[in-house]
Amino acid sequence: MAVNMDVNGQQTYFAADVLLAPEHLQFRDQFRRFVTKRLEPLALQGERDRQFPREVYKVLAEGGFLAPDYPEELGGGGGDILLGCVYYEELTRIPAGVSAGVFAHQHLAVRPLYELGSEAQKREFMFPALKAERIGAFALTEPDAGSDVQGIKTRARRDGDGWIISGSKVYITNGTIADYYILAARTSPERKPDAISLFIVDRNLKGIEASPLDKLGNHSSSTALVSFSDVRVGAGHLLGEVGGGLSQLKSTLSSGRVMQATRGLGIAQIAMEKTLKYAQEREAFSKKIGQFQGVAFKVAEMAARIEAARLMVYSAAKDVIAGRESHRCASMGKFMTADAVIFCTQQAVNLHGGYGYMEESGIPRLFRDGPESYIGEGTPEIQLRIIARQMGMHC
Ligand SMILES: Cc1cc2nc3c(=O)[nH]c(=O)nc-3n(C[C@H](O)[C@H](O)[C@H](O)COP(=O)(O)OP(=O)(O)OC[C@H]3O[C@@H](n4cnc5c(N)ncnc54)[C@H](O)[C@@H]3O)c2cc1C
Repeated sequence: MAVNMDVNGQQTYFAADVLLAPEHLQFRDQFRRFVTKRLEPLALQGERDRQFPREVYKVLAEGGFLAPDYPEELGGGGGDILLGCVYYEELTRIPAGVSAGVFAHQHLAVRPLYELGSEAQKREFMFPALKAERIGAFALTEPDAGSDVQGIKTRARRDGDGWIISGSKVYITNGTIADYYILAARTSPERKPDAISLFIVDRNLKGIEASPLDKLGNHSSSTALVSFSDVRVGAGHLLGEVGGGLSQLKSTLSSGRVMQATRGLGIAQIAMEKTLKYAQEREAFSKKIGQFQGVAFKVAEMAARIEAARLMVYSAAKDVIAGRESHRCASMGKFMTADAVIFCTQQAVNLHGGYGYMEESGIPRLFRDGPESYIGEGTPEIQLRIIARQMGMHC
């Protein structure tokens, strides 16, 4: 058996583990077993049904795994962002649509409530969400504005002591299954940072329609176009300050970028492990194909790219924990993870030969699921833009 691989061909030690504490490693071991036993069958069924298996939230909550990175007094596991990194990589060892749905709920739709919510908002939305009694989605992207967040058009107009919201949100994970949306809307027509405000919008309100979208991969997730036609919300549903914009969510978004990157690591890691195993079993020209340097070097390169990306991502997580500037490292980590995902899923198809093109091998799914992990939370180009700006280039 090769160094650091267990009898099932799963990698048990990563270079980046030097940045983890014993409790992170223990968690990885425990959670990996839980994911394989309890969640993988649901995820595979979700892939076949082409819908998010909602039971996942309940199973995670019952196992004590829905909120491992929230404080214990809220019913969470008390873990830090590094634990979140381990959590999302492990969760993405199974079909990635499931981790997309969990991330949209437990991070993007709960963390803003935790950071900005009033006591009443936490009671009504956050506490039930942490127990999987209410499921959330995060609605920012629009048909005409994704990377360019300041370009959103959804409007929230004052109406007595409440607000009337109109507009459309697109590619919204959990869009069709959510009980509430954390929604960004324009409260001023001008293009300036304080023109955007956040709202908690109950899905049951009149004027909301969610239609599922057909997509390349992540078939075990719900992704939707959600329209809001004169939806009235009360004053108590404004989250944070009027005009507080996305800068209020700095911590949600920066930790989100780091954890989203680890979802890509999960996909790349599985692609590498499956390819390694195949290279050690498949024969051609009376040899295992892994005995050809052309094959072995590609698998070694997959491993090297993943390990380097993981080190960068964990290093960014360490910066977040220490309260140091983390944007540059986080963007570099997310960029390098995208590179690892593209390289590893492509090589996995190639090195499995014809079998890599067959659904039965599990490789086509990895190839399809990969891109969402690097489009969400900022595309690779947007990560380069952040890095370049941090270096003083105002592109
Ligand atoms: C499966 C899936 C799930 C998603 N879930 C959610 C969700 O739950 N909630 C949500 O709000 N959004 C969600 N998104 C949206 C996602 O965050 C956006 O798609 C992403 O931010 C890119 O925005 P866009 O699609 O408008 O692309 P665009 O911004 O139009 O970009 C198009 C291309 O131009 C490039 N580009 C844009 N600006 C620049 C620049 N300044 N410099 C260089 N290149 C640039 C981009 O990198 C990209 O290659 C999801 C997307 C997908 C695919």
